[in-house]
Amino acid sequence: MSRLTWRIGRLVEVRSETATARTLVLDVPGWSAHLPGQHVDVRLTAPDGYSAQRSYSIASAPDGTRVELTVQRVADGEVSPYLVDVLSVGDPVELRGPIGGWFVWRPGAPEPVTLIAGGSGIAPLMAMVRTRHAASSAVPFRLLYSVRSVEDVLYADELRRRGRDDGGLDVTYLYTRQAPDGVARPAGRIGLADVNRHAWPATFEPAAFVCGPTGFVETVADLLVALGHEPRRVKTERFG
Ligand SMILES: Cc1cc2nc3c(=O)[nH]c(=O)nc-3n(C[C@H](O)[C@H](O)[C@H](O)COP(=O)(O)OP(=O)(O)OC[C@H]3O[C@@H](n4cnc5c(N)ncnc54)[C@H](O)[C@@H]3O)c2cc1C
Repeated sequence: MSRLTWRIGRLVEVRSETATARTLVLDVPGWSAHLPGQHVDVRLTAPDGYSAQRSYSIASAPDGTRVELTVQRVADGEVSPYLVDVLSVGDPVELRGPIGGWFVWRPGAPEPVTLIAGGSGIAPLMAMVRTRHAASSAVPFRLLYSVRSVEDVLYADELRRRGRDDGGLDVTYLYTRQAPDGVARPAGRIGLADVNRHAWPATFEPAAFVCGPTGFVETVADLLVALGHEPRRVKTERFG
C-alpha cells in the first residue's frame, strides 16, 4: 500500500493538552515509519457521503503502528471541533500518510537545530524533539515557542522535563498575550531581538524549522534571513 492510500486507524487514547487542544493517539495497521516533520491527511465522512479532509502534523516519534496528532480546536471550524470534542476512544479514523519530504529532520544530520513554533505549530517540532531523544542524539537544539499564555502551552510537562533532562535542548517561551510573573520579556509577538537572542547564530550554519500560522511563519522566516541565515537552511510549514 502506498503512503497515499487511505487507511483506517483507531483512536486508542486521548490526552488533554489545554482547554482547547488534545492529542489523539491512533493505532494505524500497516503504518510505515515516518520522519519527524511529516503530516497526515485526515478525512471525515458524514452519513450522507459528504466528506472533509484536513492535514495534521505527526507529533510523535516513530513508534510502530502508533501515530499521535495534536489538534487545536478552531472556533467555528468544520473538522477540528469534531476531533477535539466528539471523536471517542475506539472510533475509527480515516487517514493517509506519512506525507512530506522537505520539512523533516533526520537524526543523522550533524548541524545544530533551531525550532521556532507559533501556537499549535509546535506539533511537528515536538516530533523532532522526541525523535532526538529516542535516537539519543546530542545534536544541540534550541526551541523557541511563541504562545499566548502559560495556559496555552502544549506538552507543558514533557517540555519542562525534556528541557531539564535532555542535554543540549534549550526551550524558550515567548508569550504573546500574557507573560507569567517573573518573566522579564513583556508579552508580545516574536521580533528580531528574540530570534537574535535565542536562536543559533547564522555563523553556526544551523538548520531552522519554523511552523505555525502563515503570518507567523512568514515573519519568522524573514527575521532569520535578515539575521544572515541562508534561505535554503530555513524550512517552513504553514498551518493556514
Ligand atoms: C501541513 C499542515 C499540518 C497541520 N498540522 C496541524 C496540527 O498538527 N494541529 C492542528 O491543530 N492543526 C494543524 N493544521 C491545520 C489543520 O489542517 C486545519 O486547518 C485546522 O484544524 C482547522 O480546520 P477546521 O476544519 O476546524 O477549520 P475550517 O472550517 O477549515 O476553518 C474555519 C475558520 O478558521 C480559520 N482557520 C483555519 N485554520 C486555522 C488555524 N490553524 N488557526 C486559526 N484559524 C484557522 C479559517 O480561515 C476559517 O475562517 C495543519 C495544516 C497543514 C496544512
